[in-house]
Amino acid sequence: MKDTEDIIETDLEEENPEQEANSDDIESDSSLSDEIVEEQVEEKADIREIIKSFQPLDYFDYVNLHIHSKYSDGKADFEDIIRQAKEMGYHKIAICDHNTVEGHKHFKDDVLIPAVEFDCWCGYVFLHLLAYGIDVDNPVLDEFYAKTKKETEADIVRIFAKRDIKKLINAIHEAGGIAVLAHPACCWAFNLDKFVGKLVSYGLDGIEVYYPYRRHRAVIRFATLRQIKDIAAKYDLIVTGGTDCHTRNITAY
Ligand SMILES: [Zn+2]
Ligand SMILES: [Zn+2]
Repeated sequence: MKDTEDIIETDLEEENPEQEANSDDIESDSSLSDEIVEEQVEEKADIREIIKSFQPLDYFDYVNLHIHSKYSDGKADFEDIIRQAKEMGYHKIAICDHNTVEGHKHFKDDVLIPAVEFDCWCGYVFLHLLAYGIDVDNPVLDEFYAKTKKETEADIVRIFAKRDIKKLINAIHEAGGIAVLAHPACCWAFNLDKFVGKLVSYGLDGIEVYYPYRRHRAVIRFATLRQIKDIAAKYDLIVTGGTDCHTRNITAY
């Protein structure tokens, strides 16, 4: 069930800051002789445009870009999440299991965006990095996925993630995807603005803005929705949203 306070808090009434398409992303680079690379660039533009087309009010009734399945620590079967989304008329969903794309290797659907949520560190700050629109069979990204089931579900195991953030973002791009900072108000960064700036210098493409801030408040909450929106606008980041649903019913979280 939706929580009214969450809806107010996520400020869905406000307009999404206008996101201009970055011509650099679409422009073809003459050095790209390889057709496969060109295809990946096209896919990357697609996922950017798809996500940019979502409005704040689309979240969370028609679009939910942050759902977990049983392939990590969620309670719902992967295929059942797809079924529910279609039945309820969602335009797009993204199932982002922790450090694994196993579900996406087994199930594909028009409503589904291939995605994953990585655990990693940037200096002393632990963060969750979402990747959207990736080719789940890409060998470069393959080395960053969980090696054991525990790495997909146990917090205590996941916090020891040794992924190099710069290499990870590069690998996500290699796989045709975009890298998005998940639930940023949870980051233990002394200065979140500077921290996001650092990630942007490493190639960060987007930031999760519309999500239930209250749900994470029990853990930690260092920034408000307004601050996150300002940071997104300052660095011209793609704005995303999702409930971080771990429940059986995708309208709950
Ligand atoms: Zn997360
Ligand atoms: Zn999550």
